[in-house]
Amino acid sequence: MQKNDLIELKIEDMGADGAGIGRYGGMAFFVKDAVIGDTITARIMKLKKSYGYARLTEIKEASPNRVEPRCIYARACGGCQLQQMSYESQLAFKQKKVREHLIRIGGFGELFTDRVMEPIVGMEEPFAYRNKAQFPIGTDGSGSVVAGFYAGRTHHIVANTNCILGVPVNEDVLHAVLDYMKEFGVSAYEEGTKTGWIRHVLIRYGFDSKEVMVCIIAKGRRLPAEQTLVERLCAIEGMKSISLNTNTKDTNVILGEHTRVIWGEPGITDALYLRDPSDFHRIGDKTVYGISPQSFYQVNPVQTEKLYSLVLEYAGLTGTETVWDLYCGIGTISLFLARYAKQVYGVEVVPQAVEDARQNAGRNGISNAEFFLGKAEEVLPAFYGMGTQEGNDILPAGTALSEEMRHPDVIVVDPPRKGCDANCIETMIRLQASRIVYVSCDSATLARDLRKLCDGGYGVERVRAVDQFGQTVHVETIVLIQKKNS
Ligand code: SAH
Repeated sequence: MQKNDLIELKIEDMGADGAGIGRYGGMAFFVKDAVIGDTITARIMKLKKSYGYARLTEIKEASPNRVEPRCIYARACGGCQLQQMSYESQLAFKQKKVREHLIRIGGFGELFTDRVMEPIVGMEEPFAYRNKAQFPIGTDGSGSVVAGFYAGRTHHIVANTNCILGVPVNEDVLHAVLDYMKEFGVSAYEEGTKTGWIRHVLIRYGFDSKEVMVCIIAKGRRLPAEQTLVERLCAIEGMKSISLNTNTKDTNVILGEHTRVIWGEPGITDALYLRDPSDFHRIGDKTVYGISPQSFYQVNPVQTEKLYSLVLEYAGLTGTETVWDLYCGIGTISLFLARYAKQVYGVEVVPQAVEDARQNAGRNGISNAEFFLGKAEEVLPAFYGMGTQEGNDILPAGTALSEEMRHPDVIVVDPPRKGCDANCIETMIRLQASRIVYVSCDSATLARDLRKLCDGGYGVERVRAVDQFGQTVHVETIVLIQKKNS
């Protein structure tokens, strides 16, 4: 067996990144775009000791789970990994992914895992669900400026202004920007040579408010003929905020540090509604949020309402509780919970997001939510160790200490993909909250952190995956963790 050999594989499993897995000659082969149940021919690309990678060349017998991708760029573009699978089988894949991470990484037993896992919450319409898109801008082979998405694991742009996971207004914005660039000779930034001007276009759309925000990410602090671009963008229905973010660094991080509003408001607003967790119909309560370009906001608002309603259910609030909301972003979960709790404290590391969170409390007439700027793994221990020099150095002068802050009833955490810092988990255990609600966008790090919490005297009670990212391998998971003997 060697590189470039053609082999026939029956795809019997799928890896966490969505690649089909088949066996040949005692080795496991990973094949991108192959679906569980397919019989395929594939070309060996890379051989390791006990496994290899192969490229799909022909589908000999299609799996019953296979569907025709809706987007013609599905295979080339790195954005979607599962468009060739029926949505139902995507959900089954995600449920299994979370289950296997809990068992393999978390070390939880199979029977236990099956007992605590509830059915995944799917989407009604798994396309056109994203409220945010960040299109890289580049130059194609003929020297024309293009917008699109990166091909998987590369920075080669697949030109496409009409991503079917996004909203129609994306296309209007991109055409306005690309036409302006062509007319005024404004170049696209080139990563290789670090020359050129425009790097990315970030677009956000409020599903409830119908407001549009555009943030152009460029190498400089000004754009040529800025006013013309502004005039054209403002003509788009719903336009509320146009800003220019400057990123001069040689980095994969999209946003730079400096943002200037060039027209309209500093951001947009949107609203989320409480849903009944038994069947997820909306039950009225509405929370309004202001969102800046630099702040995080969940990308799938319909599923976010379901997710947050489950957070509220898992938190089991009666109105008397003190709650910490770690990694709180613009205070979305904090404010969703504040109406049902005595007091909520949020912690977030992005200054603009904390600013948004404070304003959002006011916007909703909520006075029992307070927000702290800093890393969860530093702010929380500072509170726990208040009165010590180290604690005092981190917290703003005059921060009041209450015993309830040191011993909350509920802690909610919603960290980025890398999960919680070890120091954060350790302090959470020390605070001895009766319940912890863990919201995660990466079930591998979630499983790792759950193991630590369980070793620290907690038990996993309920686990539910919520599909926020149809057509991709990503999945959100919410877990209720309870202090033992409480
Ligand atoms: N709960 C919010 C945000 C979740 S995203 C929501 O549902 O909208 C994770 C957030 O954690 C982001 O806002 C990010 O800026 C923030 N973050 C990342 N690292 C952090 C850290 N070490 N401490 C506190 N916040 C952090």
